[in-house]
Amino acid sequence: MENCVFCKIINKELPSTIYYEDDKVIAIKDINPAAPVHVLIIPKEHIVNVKDINESNAQILIDIHKAANKVAEDLGISEEGYRLITNCGAAAGQTVFHLHYHLLGGVDMGPKIL
Ligand code: AMP
Ligand code: ZN
Repeated sequence: MENCVFCKIINKELPSTIYYEDDKVIAIKDINPAAPVHVLIIPKEHIVNVKDINESNAQILIDIHKAANKVAEDLGISEEGYRLITNCGAAAGQTVFHLHYHLLGGVDMGPKIL
C-alpha cells in the first residue's frame, strides 16, 4: 500500500527496531513510546483497522495475539501484566491506518482505561 508508514517498515523501506517477525506479523518499537515497554504488533497484510476484520481474515488476530504473548514474554512483562489495545478510527486516536495493536507495559497503569 503506497504511502503507508507500516507497509514501508514491513518492506524495510523505513528503519525500525524489530522485536519479532514472521511471515504474517511484525512487532516493532513505537517511535514515541507512551510506556517503558511500547511495542506495535502489526499484520503484514494491509488491513485498515478492526472494522475490516471478517471471517476470511480473522486468523490474523490469533497470529497477532501469539506474537504479542511472545514479545511480552521476551521483554519480561508477561507475569506482571500489560495492556494490548487497538485504536479504530480517528475519534479513537488512530493515526496510522494500518491495523496495529499497542503492547504497553513496564509500569503500573492502574484500573482506568482513559
Ligand atoms: P495509532 O495512533 O493507534 O494509530 O498509533 C500509531 C502509532 O505509531 C503511534 O504510537 C506512533 O508513535 C507510532 N509510529 C508512527 N510512525 C512510526 C514509525 N516510523 N516507527 C514506529 N512507530 C511509529
Ligand atoms: Zn499498510
